[in-house]
Formats: sequence, structure tokens, C-alpha cells
Amino acid sequence: MSEGDAPMIRPAVSEADRLIGVKRPVLSHGFVVLVDYMGNDAAIVQAARVSYGPGTKSIRDDRGLIRYLLRHRHTTPFEMVEFKFLVRLPIYVARQWVRHRTASLNEFSARYSIVPDEFDLPPLEDIRRQSTRNRQGRAESLPPEVAERFRTDLERVSREAYAAYSAALEAGVARETARTILPLAYYTQWYWKIDLWNLLHFLSLRLDPHSQEEIRVYAAEIARAVQVVCPVAYEAFEDFVLGSLTLSRKERRAIRALLEGATPEKACAVADLPLTRDDGRPMSTGEGVEFLEKLDRIRASS
Ligand SMILES: Cc1cc2nc3c(=O)[nH]c(=O)nc-3n(C[C@H](O)[C@H](O)[C@H](O)COP(=O)(O)OP(=O)(O)OC[C@H]3O[C@@H](n4cnc5c(N)ncnc54)[C@H](O)[C@@H]3O)c2cc1C
Repeated sequence: MSEGDAPMIRPAVSEADRLIGVKRPVLSHGFVVLVDYMGNDAAIVQAARVSYGPGTKSIRDDRGLIRYLLRHRHTTPFEMVEFKFLVRLPIYVARQWVRHRTASLNEFSARYSIVPDEFDLPPLEDIRRQSTRNRQGRAESLPPEVAERFRTDLERVSREAYAAYSAALEAGVARETARTILPLAYYTQWYWKIDLWNLLHFLSLRLDPHSQEEIRVYAAEIARAVQVVCPVAYEAFEDFVLGSLTLSRKERRAIRALLEGATPEKACAVADLPLTRDDGRPMSTGEGVEFLEKLDRIRASS
């Protein structure tokens, strides 16, 4: 019997079926809902065996095959699995999310409908000082009165903006024009459908500590659903993507120096990975600093 003659059943995961339609709260008014999924770990294997043939079964078990495919970036079997989510998110998070072009999405229309009066108000501990190392990030906490002042201002400005929005609608201003007065903290909502390969790419970027915390919490909810639907693929993703480190050519040279007994600083010097500026001051960013951070990650790994 050829592969195509095998009886076909729709792959389903009962634990995932129980997640469908369940709102998982995120931030102050947001949520993630798994609307539907198509396929699971078995669908990845099913697709892969078309290319590699039934003989593969005897060589590798399903788990080994999925891990092999992910490790070697054999992408298309992962595209056979699809996820559809309903997501409610602040506009400033949506602007980051929408940059992932390999998904299909349908967004709430503020031209057609009235925007609900819901804006994101972060907890005080999330209002922190500008990072000096990462221009796109936050660092240590602020004096409580500074964080409280910002939070109060955000709430006041958002309420005033919504009052002006409502007044504009009342006065007959078109919804598509009136909405422009609302700040980025207001919420939008969309259906988002994506295949597993591109979803893993999204997660690799948006679970990363370099991404803004507010999109990371959404990514973590999405990841939870993926883990339920495709536990083997997700474990492989954790092992070979999230938990992996890439080494540049210079970093490989530095690793060789380390293996030959050099200190990290000496290894950086040997490999031309700078740690100090021309005037001798230590650098806080750059290839050398990032290499030392990689060594720290390796030391910290369990
Ligand atoms: C921490 C962080 C900071 C960021 N900062 C900024 C910023 O300051 N400013 C800014 O503008 N963006 C910023 N971005 C967005 C970033 O540049 C990407 O647009 C976003 O992460 C989507 O990545 P992607 O293109 O790989 O994903 P997708 O759009 O999902 O695409 C997946 C893959 O498909 C391929 N692909 C898709 N479309 C094309 C295409 N048209 N041409 C060629 N290949 C394509 C690429 O290989 C791509 O990696 C940031 C992202 C992160 C994670």
C-alpha cells in the first residue's frame, strides 16, 4: 500500500480542543483565544514521510524525525500545521505584531464600529527607567512618584481623548476621522492565522528578551497553545531555536582560544572581538560584549 492509500483521519488533540474558545487574559484588557487549529505533530510527520518515504519509519521514530526536520530547517512539513487565534491587544503592540508578514489577519474596523473605552494601563512595576544599554528597552525601577505620575498622566490623557472621541462622534464626525484622536494604548482586535513554521519564527523573535515585554506576554500565551497542539515540535523548537546559540566566525576563533586555555578577555583579543574603546574605556555593547554574554548564558544553562 502506498502512502496515499493509507486511511486518513483528521489529527486532533483533545487537550487543545478544550482550549478552543477559552479567553486567556493578557495585559489589562487583552486576551488570546485559540479559535482553531489544523494538524498536530502527526501532520508534520505525515507530510515529511511523503518526501522521505515510508522507509523512514524504521530509521527514525516520529519524535526523532520532527527533531531532525527542525534542526535542519526542513520547513515545509511544519507549514502543514495551522493556527487561528482571536487576539485583543493595545494598538502599540499591534504595530509590532503586524510586522510579521507571513500571517493572515482580519482586524476590527474603527471606521465601521465604535472603539470601546478600554486602554492599557501598565502596573507600576512595569513603568521603569530607559535602558542605557538597549535604546529600545527598559532597565531598573524608577522612584515610585515618577512611575505613579506617568500612570496618572496616561490615565488622564486616555480618558480625555476618549471623551473628545465620543463628543466628535456625537457631533457627527465620521468614525474613520474621529478615531485618530485615540492614543496607542487603546485596544484593537483581530483574527490571526499562521502556519507553524512562521509561528515559530514569530515566537523566536517575540519571546526573546529584546522584544518589548508587552508583546512577549502575548507570545507566551500563543506559545502555550502551540505546546499543547504540537508538544514534540515545540520541544524541538525550545531545544534547537530558543535554547541555541549562534557563533560568528570570530566567536568560533575565540572559543578555540578558550579551549586552548585563554581567559575570556584574551580570547576576545585573539579573535578581534573588541571590549574597550580607543580611549581604553570599557564598551557596554558590541560584538565582544555580546560574546561574553553568550558565555554567561552557557555558564547559566542547566
Ligand atoms: C526586538 C525587535 C526590535 C525591532 N525594532 C524595529 C524597529 O526599530 N523598526 C522597525 O521598522 N522594525 C523593527 N522590528 C521589526 C523587524 O525588523 C521585523 O520586521 C519583524 O521582526 C518581522 O520579522 P520577519 O520579517 O523576519 O518576519 P515575517 O514578516 O513573518 O517574515 C518571515 C520571513 O519571511 C521572509 N520574508 C517575508 N516577507 C519578505 C519580503 N517582503 N522580502 C523578503 N523576505 C521576506 C523573511 O525571510 C522573513 O524573515 C523589530 C523586531 C524585533 C523583534
